[in-house]
Order: sequence, then C-alpha cells, then structure tokens
Amino acid sequence: MNKNNFDFDETNTPWDDLHEECGVFGIYDLDGNDIASSIYYGLFALQHRGQESAGIAVSDTKQEKVKVFSHKGMGLVNEIFNSEILESLKGDLGVGHVRYSTAGSSTIENAQPLVLNYVKGTLALAHNGNLINANELREGLAQTGAIFQTTIDSEVIAYHIARERLKTKTVQDAVREACKKLKGAYSLVVASPRKLIGARDPFGFKPLCIGKRDNSYIITSETCALDTIGATFVRDVLPGEVVTITSEGIQSDKSMCLPTSCEARCIFEYIYFARCDSKIDGISVYDSRIKAGKFLAKDSPVEADIVTGVPESGNAAALGYSMESGIPYEPAFVKNTYVGRTFIKPKQSSRESSVQVKLNVLREAVAGKRVIMIDDSIVRGTTSDRIVKMLRMAGATEVHVRISSPPFLWPCYFGTDIPAREQLIAYNRSIEDIRKIIGADSLGYLELDRLPQLASGLNICQGCFTGKYPLEPPKDDIRGEYFDKEEDIEKKNSNK
Ligand code: SF4
Repeated sequence: MNKNNFDFDETNTPWDDLHEECGVFGIYDLDGNDIASSIYYGLFALQHRGQESAGIAVSDTKQEKVKVFSHKGMGLVNEIFNSEILESLKGDLGVGHVRYSTAGSSTIENAQPLVLNYVKGTLALAHNGNLINANELREGLAQTGAIFQTTIDSEVIAYHIARERLKTKTVQDAVREACKKLKGAYSLVVASPRKLIGARDPFGFKPLCIGKRDNSYIITSETCALDTIGATFVRDVLPGEVVTITSEGIQSDKSMCLPTSCEARCIFEYIYFARCDSKIDGISVYDSRIKAGKFLAKDSPVEADIVTGVPESGNAAALGYSMESGIPYEPAFVKNTYVGRTFIKPKQSSRESSVQVKLNVLREAVAGKRVIMIDDSIVRGTTSDRIVKMLRMAGATEVHVRISSPPFLWPCYFGTDIPAREQLIAYNRSIEDIRKIIGADSLGYLELDRLPQLASGLNICQGCFTGKYPLEPPKDDIRGEYFDKEEDIEKKNSNK
C-alpha cells in the first residue's frame, strides 16, 4: 500500500491506524532438519507487523548445488500457507517475511522474501525498514543495466549484495559492503547458499534479535517469535552489526557500528508496533507501556471511576495509569481481530461503522461511569472521535482521553506510514482544539521529555514528534512508489 492508497472507511476517510512495515524471520538448522514449518509459526507470531503479504524461501544446504524453493502470497500467513505447501518447502536454511508496504505497491511481485540467482549462487532476502536513498541507488543500478522485478527498495539491497559479492571474499563481507551504501532503516535477514546473515542499520531503527533452539539459530524481528517456536533468546543484533550463522556458530562484524550516542531506535516500536510480550534491546515492551501509563497519571491526572485501554497497545498503558492513580482498571472494549486483508469494509451508505465492526464497548463496564480511555496515538482523529462517541452511547458520563505518545507533528521516513503533516490532527492545532474535535471531556498526551525513559535511557528516534531526525530527511517524499518502467527512467534522465 502506498501513501495514496490507505484503507478507507464508510465515510470515505482513511482508517486511522499506523502501520509497521514488515517482520522478518530467518533460521538455520545445523542438524539439517526441515525448517519451513518453524518459519511459518515464526511469521504467525509476527503477523501484527504486516498483514498484506507473506512469504517463505528455503534451501537445502546438504545438496551440492543449492536451490531455493519459495512460496509467497497476498493476505495473512494462515491464508497463504497450508500443510501441503509447507511440506513441499524442503530445506534446513530459510527466511520468511510478513509485509505491510509504505514503499512500493501492495502486489504479489513486491511480496518478500526476494530470491536472486546470480553468478555466485542464490540469495534470499527479507527486509524491514525504509531506505531514504533507494531512488538514487535504484537509478544508479538501472543506468548500469539492472532490470527490476519489483518496485520495493529491498530489491536494491539484494542487487547491491549480489554486485559486491563479485568483489568480496565472503557473502557476509558483501552484505556489509552493500549496507555501507544504504541510508535509512533496515533490519535484514539473508540466506545465502550455506549461511544465515542478519544485519541491522547503524541507527538501530528496527529491532533484530538472535535465538537458538537445539542446534538451530534464528534471527528475527521480535523475541515473541522465538517464544512461539520454543527457542531461547541469545541476544539482540547490535545497531550496525552484521551477524553470520554457519556451522562454526555466530560470527560478528561490528565495523559499521557507530558510537551508542548516535543510535536512534524507533520509539514507536515500544509504544505501539511491537507485541507486548517482546523485548527490544533488553527492554520489555510491556514495561515501557506500563511506564507510559504511569507518566500519564502523574502528568495528566483526572478524577474518574474507571480507566480502560483501546486494545491492544492501550491496555498495558491503561494498567500503568491505574497502578499510579489507584483508579480501577476495567477492560471496556471487545476487539474483533479477524479483520484480514480481504475484509469488505462498510460502504458510505451502509449503517455499519468500520470502527464498530472492529471494536465494541462493554456497556456493563462503562454505564453511569466517568471513564479514562488510554490510546497509543491520535493520527487524524477520525477513530478517536468515534470511540469517544461509542463510550458515551454505552452510558459513560464523562470520557477523558489520555494518549501514551506525544502529538504526531511530522512524517516518518524510516518505515512508518504517518500521513502528510496537513492530515495530522495535531498540525497547527492546540490540545484544546483537538479535544473539541474528538469530543472528549479532557485530553492529555505523554510529555516529550518522558519518551527516553520508556526505553530506559537507550538512544531513540523521536523525529515524528520533534521534526529532528537522526538522518537528514530526503527532499522528495519517498513514501510512494518508485518509477519502475524504462520510459520513466528515460523521462527522468531527459529532465536532468
Ligand atoms: S520518525 Fe517516529 S515512527 Fe519514524 S522511526 Fe522515528 S520514532 Fe519511529
């Protein structure tokens, strides 16, 4: 999905959720057992990171000439794979991917992992993040004869790895040299004929961790995927580190690492994207959300009868608010989680509301009560407005909204589809203006200076709140589709 193609609801306004771009999962079973089903369950655990497409690519390292078998499709992991497909994916080394797109359209060609056959063998790659120099790199490659199969920046990475491999001694050196050309956010897993490689950009925007189960090594986006397949957590991949799994164990290349003061983890992973039961760089996502709720209770107190969270990410923050304030926590929402890609959204003329289809209020929990409702963010405000109305219709006498992040004021260039500034409710508006628009009795946001404490003092990116990014943002809006036809490249060149 690109920036012009958000999901729309029944009043022709976009769904007001933010989306993560992707989740990655790689595994190498050094005992030679098939791993496709482990990738499947790993991707299933990462489904919250992307619901548009998914794919698995595996290879059998025991064969003399290694071939990659892959299967990709549009939709949820359990819609794309069945036991016969998994059975046909034979191999002990592989990578998988779930995708939500912010660069490149939502098509099967753009689904990952990308598989490349080149003179040095095969390569399967899965990428989470957004590059800010993908257009320049792509143009450079096109000038030297590269023909692209997709419109995603991940293909640019795969091409660069393949080209560097012609000059380097090992494939991990080629990955490192290719990474040196990239600017932006990337957490990668790469399966080359007999190695599993993981790489995280020097800022550490997106998470990446290593796990182990018996004699298998795993490199994946979140620790919840390790728990799901019964693996134990080994450690996080450091920002800027390239790790390589071979029959010798884990090798590490830290030559791209920057001083820790330069690191810039996406704070939104802690606030919203990551699953509550994951840990990122040693910090529990659940604990971060509890902390956010406690800060809100300290900084934005209000008298009320119950505190509740908008599922899922609002729940832990609501619990934190309750712990700090002593106001009882009550789950007041029931969420229908079965809204897949092919779900038919209600039309303008229909009496059903998209928000109500996804979420219902427990009348018994809120009727006659003053309610504090905690949500992770307000993007355009369309959803918040409806949820406040739903609480009032269910009998809430007052609705006080507390948001576990500061107001969004700037776009993101590193993999989150925050819309243009003018569409953000907080742009050019006071908190009081926003309160009136969403119809709440009071409104409070997390204070900006509380953000670093959510990640226990680790260095974070807060660009979408402050407009100060760890990397110079691109001049053009890169969050759309790349030009992908020869005529477009020619046209671009003739305009120079
Ligand atoms: S700009 Fe915001 S959403 Fe984007 S990486 Fe930084 S903190 Fe995350």
